[in-house]
This record gives sequence, C-alpha cells and structure tokens, in this order.
Amino acid sequence: MTFQTEASRLPVELRTEALESILVERNLVDTKVMDTYIKMYEQDIGPMNGAKVVAKAWVDSQYKARLLEDGTGSIAELGFKGPQGEHIVVVENKPGTHNVIVCTLCSCYPWPVLGLPPTWYKDPAYRSRMVREPRKLLSEMGLELDEDVDIQVWDSSSEVRYLVLPERPAGTEDMSEEELAGLVTRDAMVGVANVSAPGQA
Ligand code: FE
Repeated sequence: MTFQTEASRLPVELRTEALESILVERNLVDTKVMDTYIKMYEQDIGPMNGAKVVAKAWVDSQYKARLLEDGTGSIAELGFKGPQGEHIVVVENKPGTHNVIVCTLCSCYPWPVLGLPPTWYKDPAYRSRMVREPRKLLSEMGLELDEDVDIQVWDSSSEVRYLVLPERPAGTEDMSEEELAGLVTRDAMVGVANVSAPGQA
C-alpha cells in the first residue's frame, strides 16, 4: 500500500518509466518494437488518414454509401486498419444533425484514422460534460451550433470506435479530392469543429 500511495504522487511520466523498466526487465516487451510503434503513430498514422477517407466520401457518393454502411471495411479499402480500428462506425453530419464522439469511460478512439487521442479527449471534464451539456461545451470549444441543430453524442468503447463525417463546406465545388483532404481537421472528425472552406473562419 505504501508503494501505491508513493507512486500515485509521482508525475505520470515517472510512473510510466517505472512500469516500462519492469516490463522490459521481465522480457514482457521489446523496446525496439515499442519504439517502432511510437514512431509509426507519431509520423505515419494520424488525422491525415481520416481526412483522406472524408474527402473520398465527399467526391464519391458510392464510396460514401459504403462507408456509412461498413466503416471498417471501407476505411480498410484505403489501407487504414490496425489496432483500435477493428470496428469503426462512421456517423454523418447533415443540416440539422451534428455528431460528436467521446469515450466516457477512458479514451477509446479510432487510431487508424485519427492517430492517438489529444489530451483534452482524455480529460474527465470533456468526457462527462460532452454527455451532460454538449451544446455548451462545444460552444466553449469554439463551435456554436444553432438551437435547432440536434446533437448526437456517440460514446466509444473498446468494441466500437466512431468517426464523424463532417459536412462538405460550400464553396469547395471546384476543389480536388486531395485539396479537400487538406481542409479536414482532426477536430472536425471528432465533431468538436466543422470544416471551413479556404478563407473562411
Ligand atoms: Fe475508452
């Protein structure tokens, strides 16, 4: 008990290091494998993957239909799959309906399309308030939604992870799929922001 009390006072980094050295010492993890994973999630896997999925759905209505029907399979068509992405459900924003994702229990998040979750996503305040008062919290995060917009909050779990398909902004009709992908932000795919056309705030 003494150890636990002491440990809980240490900064999280120290506790993580302590845990890591025990796991390495006992040959339960390989530091090389761990470094490869960390590098992969920092450099190769992130919101740019999800942005490609969204842009494709915006320009290809058949792909969009498939994506809403079978998120995991349609996302895998673009090569994005792996841990924490075994069951991805895509929820579509429409005029009058806004979707936002949360994990009330911990920090479940669709890694293959969004990478690792930002700190605020793991914050207990975000996790509880997004369920209790989503409109107020979204407004504090910079997204003002009209009173008549229905907000759907999706609680992720270890089984199902969600991805928001944001609305394509007006004024982007002439943009290519690649250019459109450049507009799509992580926050828009979590549902705490909308996508803006270039030059719009
Ligand atoms: Fe979780």
